[in-house]
Order: sequence, then C-alpha cells, then structure tokens
Amino acid sequence: MLVERFEWLDENINAINKRRHTSQDEMFIHDTLLNQTFRLYSILETLDDGSCNLGCGGLCCFFPREFSVQLDLDTVEKIRFYLKGKGAKFDDYVRKCWYDRLPDEMKDALDEVHATFVEKGIKKAYEVTSREGQMDKSEIPNIPRAPDGRLLWTDADSSPCAFLTDDRRCSLYAAGIKPVFCTEFICSVNIALKVAKQLGYLSDKDTAGLPFPKLKRLSDDIFDTFETLMKYETEYHTAFIEMGKKYISGDDIAEPLERFKGAEKKYLRNRRKLFKSAIHPNYIDHIKKFLAADISKLPIFKEYPTPQQCIGRSIRHVKRSRLPEETKV
Ligand code: SF4
Ligand code: SF4
Repeated sequence: MLVERFEWLDENINAINKRRHTSQDEMFIHDTLLNQTFRLYSILETLDDGSCNLGCGGLCCFFPREFSVQLDLDTVEKIRFYLKGKGAKFDDYVRKCWYDRLPDEMKDALDEVHATFVEKGIKKAYEVTSREGQMDKSEIPNIPRAPDGRLLWTDADSSPCAFLTDDRRCSLYAAGIKPVFCTEFICSVNIALKVAKQLGYLSDKDTAGLPFPKLKRLSDDIFDTFETLMKYETEYHTAFIEMGKKYISGDDIAEPLERFKGAEKKYLRNRRKLFKSAIHPNYIDHIKKFLAADISKLPIFKEYPTPQQCIGRSIRHVKRSRLPEETKV
C-alpha cells in the first residue's frame, strides 16, 4: 500500500503542485499530500537498502536443494573472472538451471533479457550452488519471516550458499561483487526494525548490542503490529487517495476531507497503541538486564515468555518473492 500510495503521488505530483488552494482546508490537503510524498519516499528508500548487519549468521544465504539465487549474466562474468583468479572451479559455485522450471514468482523477478541464455534450444539461467553443511539446530528458531507474511525459503535442511564462508560472510561481497537478488533482499526482522526506527518508535541505541534471537523476538512483535494495523492502514489509504483525487479535480472536498481526518486519527491512535505494546517501555531494558544478570532473579520471566521458538513464518522480499506458498520452516 505504501508503494501504491507513493506511485499515485508520484504520478500526480504536477497536478497537486499546479492546483491553487484558496481555503484552509485546501491548504491542509496540499500540505498533507506533499508531506506524505516525502515521508513515503524516505521510508521506501530505507526499505530498498537491503544491507544487513543484524548478525543472524546469514540465514537467508541457506537454500533448499531445488533452487537458490539466480544471477544476471553480467554478474556471472564477474564471478567467472574472480574464481579464475582464485584458481577455483566455476562449476563448484555456479550452475545452470532451466528457466521454464523456475517457480512463476522467480521468473517474474528475473530480468529475462539480462539473466537468461539459450543452450541447445533450452532457455536457461545461472544460479549459485549450495555447498555441504547445514545450519546449527539452535539457529532454526532464528530463521526470520519475510515481508509479505510467507515463509522464508530457508528451512532446517537447507545448505549454505557456496559463497558463504565458514565464518558466515559472503566471499563475493568481499570481492566487490554483489548479486542483485542478494542486495535487494530484506527479511522481516530487518524490515520491522527499520520501519520502527523510521517511524520513531525505536532508535539504534535501543537495539545496539542485542543478540540476534532478541532482535528477532522484538521484530516479530513489531511485525505482528504491522499485520494488525493493516485494516486501519487500508481505511487510511482509501480515504487518502479519495481526498487527493477530489482535491486535484476541484470537486467538493468537505466530505472526503472529513473521512480522511477520521481515518488518520484512528490509524495513528492504533499505531501508537500497537507499537507501544510491541515495544514495551521497559522491554529493551529488561532484555539488557536479562543479558547481564542472573536470569532466575529477573522479573522479565513473569512479564514475558522466554525468548523462544518464534519459528519464522518467514517471507521473501517482494522483488525476490518467488517461492512456492508451501515452503516449510
Ligand atoms: S536479512 Fe535477515 S536473514 Fe538475511 S542476514 Fe539479515 S537478519 Fe539474517
Ligand atoms: S552470494 Fe553471498 S549474499 Fe548471496 S546468497 Fe551467496 S553468500 Fe549470500
């Protein structure tokens, strides 16, 4: 919805700017539309940055046997050159896959022109291979969800990407090669914390030093907040667009304005309430004490359940969301 709203504003920004406002109400709408444009732009820009230093150990770099991360042809050439320099075998790191056998969502996300080639009459793409190994059992509860509520492709049987080093770093990144699917990916933990910070409910200081399982628990709570907020967000979104359209066309704005103000009030009130309960005022302090002190003496156990099997209903990034619905964690 954020993207949809931003796109609508983007398409109509000239009309909004051209419209002369002659009353307080029109001025209010004009300012609301412009503020929203800047705000949405900055949120979407933050979300577009898939960089992650949350320290989960690269769980999104573990893949099931059937598929992994596809590569565009330009990146493949860089990888070929890089592996040659290392004296490593290309086929140990990159394999060919049949384009037609990829799940539809993967095909949609793939830039066909720059990522596919034809070999013996069959359209193919390149993707990274996995290497031997599995994640530690203790990491399974850390598998995050993805931004649309679905499971992440990673599960307990997944194997690490061939480029993931033993100390869980990407050897390609270290060589300055960044496959676009990898740089675009953002998981639920990353997205929830980023948005909470962007909206001012959380700061870097609050999350500094928290280990990943705690960050995951915090972000899961925040993520549930987004899901609950959806119905208010939908109401807000509809009223916003309706008000914007009437404003641009010069129609009577009294009713849509009234509706928007009501929806906005409801949305903000509920957002504040839900975020407050997800990010309990003492929650972060509790966690920090929890990490530093004798667990059994802390009240956190009475107030909050043990950071636990928040098994990820993990999901994929929109642009990378090419997974079968049934993928299991
Ligand atoms: S994006 Fe999510 S799954 Fe990937 S490394 Fe960061 S926290 Fe881990
Ligand atoms: S190429 Fe690097 S970032 Fe991409 S999946 Fe492999 S290890 Fe992860």
